[in-house]
Amino acid sequence: MERPRASTHYPKSLGEFQAWFPTDADCLDYLEWLRWPCGFVCPSCGHPGGWRLGDGRFMCTGCGNRTSVMAGTIFDRTRTPLTVWFSVCWHFAVGKDGVSALSLKRTLEIGSYQTVWAILHRLRSVLIRPERERLCGKVEVDETYIGGKESGLSGGRAKGKKVLTCIAIEILEPKGFGRCRMAPVADASSESLHSFVLDNVEPGATVITDAWQGYRGLEKNGYMHDRRSQRAASTRGEDPGELLPGVHRIASLAKRWLLGTHQGAVDTAHLPSYLDEFAFRFNRRRSRSRGMLFYRVLELAVAHGPIRYQDLVMSPSPKAVPPKPPRQRGHPPSLERPSPGRPWRQIPNSG
Ligand SMILES: [Zn+2]
Repeated sequence: MERPRASTHYPKSLGEFQAWFPTDADCLDYLEWLRWPCGFVCPSCGHPGGWRLGDGRFMCTGCGNRTSVMAGTIFDRTRTPLTVWFSVCWHFAVGKDGVSALSLKRTLEIGSYQTVWAILHRLRSVLIRPERERLCGKVEVDETYIGGKESGLSGGRAKGKKVLTCIAIEILEPKGFGRCRMAPVADASSESLHSFVLDNVEPGATVITDAWQGYRGLEKNGYMHDRRSQRAASTRGEDPGELLPGVHRIASLAKRWLLGTHQGAVDTAHLPSYLDEFAFRFNRRRSRSRGMLFYRVLELAVAHGPIRYQDLVMSPSPKAVPPKPPRQRGHPPSLERPSPGRPWRQIPNSG
């Protein structure tokens, strides 16, 4: 498809967003267009073309399979009205630092915290394409501890332990940063660190690390390795803390973001998806059109397979303590609203 344009492919402002998607049916049609921009293609057999059935589903003219726009995507079997999904997604995408479930529940007057929480987590889960391009050029790599209980926060709001997290960031010439990647690692062993580098950095790149032995042997995987020794830096009279300025910058931005937007209340088990969200935002920090990010998130959402509620609340890491699943209660009503007819004109005269 041609490059997406504001006001045609995606709403450019909150005003346009509200005008485009007043009803659940409008949202559904947008998802249909995003999933099948050139018309229905059968997800079972790949045959293009089908009949639209009376109940809104499609029947493939090739294999006879019946399916719906939302089946097989993260919207599969959702009972939450699409107007709610779209509003949550809009706020998630256009907010420079994202949103927390609690603040969004209040802003949108959605009764159920769990509903907002689950939508936000599903959106986070689709952000990273498995086939995404790895980092290249000059890439700094280091590990740091992220998350866990911060001193000064009362009531145990920040649950869980600090998690050893690997960070990689492209260093641009003559200055500036490119894209970043972050992921928790089991330990600082050479197996864990090498597998992080292989997953996230393109062979042929120059990997810049400190002198930690866990990074030895990167050359064998096709990398150029620039090892920077703290001791050597001190001997030269340089600040050893500034050996890897890129990863330190990312680490402090990510920690500040977790404490700011999410108030530090991030479960260890969910840290990986928050790190994915951070990297998604950081890597698009220069995007001037926030509406475009709304489009990108929904585009990823219709291309991503279903995510069961149980998968969201289960711990992705076998060692971490599983978080208590939020109780699932009733589903919120649609955000479709009939026009209230200028209520301010209906105030009876008091005098
Ligand atoms: Zn088919």
